[in-house]
Amino acid sequence: MKKKPEISMYYLDGDPFVWQPKQLRADFEAMRRIGADSVCISVLESHTSDYPGKVALARSAGLKVYAIPSRVGGFFAGWPKVASLFAARHPEYLVLTRDGRFQDATAGSVCCPNQPAFRAWFLEWLEKLLDESGVDGVVYDEPKEAHVPCWCPACRKLCPDQDEAARVRFREASVAGLLGEACRLVKRSRPDRTNILFVMPDATGHFKTRILEQPELDYFGNDGPVCHQGEPEQTHQKTSLFDSVPAIFRLADQAGKKRFTLVETFSIHSGAMAELARNLPRVAEWQADLYAFYFYGTGNQEPERVMELSAEAIARIKG
Ligand SMILES: [Zn+2]
Repeated sequence: MKKKPEISMYYLDGDPFVWQPKQLRADFEAMRRIGADSVCISVLESHTSDYPGKVALARSAGLKVYAIPSRVGGFFAGWPKVASLFAARHPEYLVLTRDGRFQDATAGSVCCPNQPAFRAWFLEWLEKLLDESGVDGVVYDEPKEAHVPCWCPACRKLCPDQDEAARVRFREASVAGLLGEACRLVKRSRPDRTNILFVMPDATGHFKTRILEQPELDYFGNDGPVCHQGEPEQTHQKTSLFDSVPAIFRLADQAGKKRFTLVETFSIHSGAMAELARNLPRVAEWQADLYAFYFYGTGNQEPERVMELSAEAIARIKG
């Protein structure tokens, strides 16, 4: 019989700058009450000193804890959406366009994995975080700009090919390679630690293949909405999880990875609540190995109702 799925809460709202232990404790206890087994807690590159304290609180509430390195080197998504301090201090390590400009990215700039000094800094940062916090694993949240070719001196040397498509493939392999090294580091630090990676639905097939080749990666999946997000008149929408999950899980199955999904319950207008109520119970049908739900996503007009519906979906998954 298939093991029961693990339920995790995606926790980005415990203010990373000012927080009170009693508030976090109450949040973690609330997560346990609705059936969470674990929590994914965001951590910024420049703000790690109080992270072990947060992890200890979650553990004392009975939750496993996964770290979400957010915006580290501009390399990941995550929250809050800030520019990387390392990237700002070291423009010499940034991804460059063909004409030598800094590649514009979703949060400032993004560092190139082929720059040895950036690689070393990132892996040291991660190792220190693992040692000091005692987390049970790491979530690699939407590696950024993997599809953008890099023309920095290091990449020009390693990949002399001038063809744009060849350079995109080279960059995707480079990004996947560094993530694979991070996964190795996580396992070396403690073999029972877990590596979880998810991509945006529009990640290329080549990038997904390169990621799935990384032997130390445990979980693979994606994130996305299950109802309309934003103002009612907003027409541009992200790909629904109902459209993206089947293909992503097929890839995970073929590569022998466990299935992960993150249900995006944020930016939900009151007008979309009926759609959310209809669709959330259906996520149980996907048979993920690890389901993550937002614990109070940002921008919801009816935050308590969204959490109630999430709790009902969790109860249904847990059977
Ligand atoms: Zn480069």
